[in-house]
Amino acid sequence: MRKNIVAGNWKMNKTLQEGIALAKEVNELLAGEQPACDVIICTPFIHLASVVPLVDPTKIGVGAENCADKESGAYTGEVSAAMVASTGAKYVILGHSERRAYYHETVDMLTEKVKLALANGLTPIFCVGEVLQEREAGKQNEVVATQLASVLALSPADFSKVILAYEPVWAIGTGKTATPQQAQEMHAFIRGVIAGYYDEDVADNCSILYGGSCKPSNARELFANPDVDGGLIGGAALKAADFKGIIDAFK
Ligand code: PEP
Repeated sequence: MRKNIVAGNWKMNKTLQEGIALAKEVNELLAGEQPACDVIICTPFIHLASVVPLVDPTKIGVGAENCADKESGAYTGEVSAAMVASTGAKYVILGHSERRAYYHETVDMLTEKVKLALANGLTPIFCVGEVLQEREAGKQNEVVATQLASVLALSPADFSKVILAYEPVWAIGTGKTATPQQAQEMHAFIRGVIAGYYDEDVADNCSILYGGSCKPSNARELFANPDVDGGLIGGAALKAADFKGIIDAFK
């Protein structure tokens, strides 16, 4: 069954102490209630082992923001999927546009990362999305379909473990949110690609999150779309109250 999910992406923000404080705050805000969606916080690698034991695992899952495309070995500075899993983290964001643009992550590298994440029991939160020029040229569907190749290479059983996130790059951190209609159109397109590659059932069961300047004031309208199953949240995940406000959009 497809789930509603709100996932935070802290990016390269928060010292360890600040991250611990933020995780505790989110945990406390959810303490008296059962959220109406799955809640995930994705933190820098060094926070994972400290944050995992701090949060109630029945309400909050913890994830990394990346993992290596190699299993282990002489790759100085890299962190493997097995290492992420060994902290107790259950999720990993892969293919974020910042990784694709600044660290030149390709479809092939991401295919490897997705495989290694799954092999180590991690749920990939796999991001796709076009840049402004691509949207202005009407190429957004083509771009997103190409990016999806990293997960469409999976068996249907493995694909069913993946969460997708559509994040138009022009909306990330810019304050410019996609309109609910733009989000719905792309999510429906993605679901159609999945149905074409696998079948309707697999497509129906896939959670597709929207990401890009999502905040408490626009979350409800975005999540109301039939193919939008929640959000991947950057800036607004850094303030516990704002993150909770977005989670509450499912109430
Ligand atoms: C993101 O980078 O995943 C993101 C959605 O960022 P923001 O919410 O800040 O636009």
